[in-house]
Amino acid sequence: MNFNDLEVVLAIMKKAGYGDIVQLPEESDVILINTCAIRDNAENKIWQRLNYFKHIKSNWRKNGTKSSRPPPKVAVLGCMAERLKEKLIEADKMVDVVCGPDAYRDLPRLLSSVEQGQQAINTLLSLEETYADVSPVRIAKDSVTAFVSIMRGCNNMCSFCIVPFTRGRERSRPLESIVREVGELWEQGVKEVTLLGQNVNSYCDLSNTPGIREGEEDTPDEEQRREEEKKKTKKSEAVSDVLSSGFSAIYRTNESGLRFASLLKCLAETYPEMRFRFTSPHPKDFPDDLLLVMREQHNVCNSIHLPVQSGSSRVLERMRRGYTREAYLELVERIREIIPGVALSSDFIAGFCGETEEDHLQTLSIVETVGYEMAYMFAYSMREKTPAHRHDVDDVPEEVKQRRLSELIATFKRSSAARYHSQLGKTQLVLIEAPNKRNPNEWGGRCDSGQKVFFSRAPVPDHQSGDLVDTKPGDYVAVKILDTTFASLRGEPLRRTSLQAFYSEPS
Ligand code: SF4
Repeated sequence: MNFNDLEVVLAIMKKAGYGDIVQLPEESDVILINTCAIRDNAENKIWQRLNYFKHIKSNWRKNGTKSSRPPPKVAVLGCMAERLKEKLIEADKMVDVVCGPDAYRDLPRLLSSVEQGQQAINTLLSLEETYADVSPVRIAKDSVTAFVSIMRGCNNMCSFCIVPFTRGRERSRPLESIVREVGELWEQGVKEVTLLGQNVNSYCDLSNTPGIREGEEDTPDEEQRREEEKKKTKKSEAVSDVLSSGFSAIYRTNESGLRFASLLKCLAETYPEMRFRFTSPHPKDFPDDLLLVMREQHNVCNSIHLPVQSGSSRVLERMRRGYTREAYLELVERIREIIPGVALSSDFIAGFCGETEEDHLQTLSIVETVGYEMAYMFAYSMREKTPAHRHDVDDVPEEVKQRRLSELIATFKRSSAARYHSQLGKTQLVLIEAPNKRNPNEWGGRCDSGQKVFFSRAPVPDHQSGDLVDTKPGDYVAVKILDTTFASLRGEPLRRTSLQAFYSEPS
C-alpha cells in the first residue's frame, strides 16, 4: 500500500513540475519519507533515517560542491505523519513538511510554503479521497507486476490496530477508474495486478448509487464519531451476499453499490491474459459470490490472505475481530469446498493483552488445523491511541511474547513444509518476473498460489507452434515442480503458454 501511495505522490509531484527520482539524498531537492505506523520497529527506523537526513542538512554548507543549492526539504508522509504529527513538527530541524495519507494533493503547496524555513502540515483525513483520477508513476517501470489501489481506509476497529486512526474511513474508487488504470498497465506490459486496500474485499463503489455517499463530514475526533455511530447502528448480522456467514461488522454494511466480486469479475473478463491478486482482505467479506468468481475466473489467483490474528475466541473478542475461532474455521471449510486447492495465508499476533498459555496453544492449533502456505507473525506491540491502549493492559512479558512467537514460527514452518511438499510432481503456471538473484541462469516467478518458483532459462517449446523459444519476463510457463525448500519451489519448464490455454487444458 505504501509503495503504491508513493507512486501516487510521484504523479502529483510530477504534475507540479518536479523532476525524476535521484539516487542519493545529497542530489535531491526534496526527500519524501513514506511511513508506516503499525509497529514500533517501523517507526524507530524512520527516526533513524530522519536523524541521518538532519545530519546531511546540517553539514550542507560545509561541503563546497553543494553550497550553490539549498539543502533538501524533508517531508514525512503516510501513517506516521498522521499519528505523530506534533512530535514530528517539534523534532528539532528534522522535518519540513508533514503530510497525511489523504493530503498528498496538497504536498506541492506545502513544500512551496516552506521556502523561507517555516514548517507546513496537512493531516486532514477525508471521507472521499481515493486519488481515482491520478495515474501513479511506476517506480519499477520494467516490472511485469503492479499494484492498483482500489479503496482506502478501514471501518473496523480491531483493538490493536492504529490503521483506522491514520487512514480514516473506508471509501472506494469508481470501477471505471480502476478498469482504466489496469488497462494502462496492460498497455505497458504488466501481466499481474495486485488490487490493494486496507480492507480490500469490502470494496463498494457507490458512485452510481443515487442518494448514497460514503460519509457526510469529517470531525476532529474520528473515534468519538465512530463510537456514536456504533451505538446507533445495530451490529450487522451475517448478510449472505455481503458478509461471510458467522461474521459481524462494527459498521452497518452497505448493501447497495457495486461490490468486490463484481469488480473482480469485470477485471478478469476484460483482461483475460492478466492475472489478479488482492490484499489485504478481512475474513468477514468473503460471501459465496466472491468465492464463486474466484473459482470461475481462471485469471483470479486461487490464493487468499485470511488474517486470523489469534486462534482463541476469547482473544479474538478482545481484539474486536468480529468472529470466533469456530466461524473462522467454518469459513476456511467453505472456501476449500468452493475453491479446492486454494492457498491460504494469515497474520498472527503473539502475546496480545491478556493472552494466556491456553489461548496461545489455540493459536498453534489453528495453524496446524488450517495449514497455511504463508504467514506473517509478530509479537504484540501496543500502539498509543488504539482501543487496546485505552482499555487493555499489555500484560504479557516481552520474553513470553518472544517465546510464543518462536513457537508460532516453528509450528508454521512444520505445517507449511508439508504444504510445499504436496506440490511435488504437480504442474504449475508460473509468470516469469526476473532472473533468480542467486543464480542468473534461472528465472524466478510466482505460481497461482503465490509461491516463488525457480526454473532453468533454457529454451522451451511454445504451446502453439511447438518451436523452441527463449522465455522472458512476462511470459507464462508451465513448470513441473521437482523440489521444494522452506519458502520456494524449483521445477522443470515444460512449455511457454498462455493463461487461457493453460487453464483450458485437461488437468
Ligand atoms: S481490519 Fe482491523 S487490522 Fe485490518 S486495518 Fe482494519 S482495524 Fe486494522
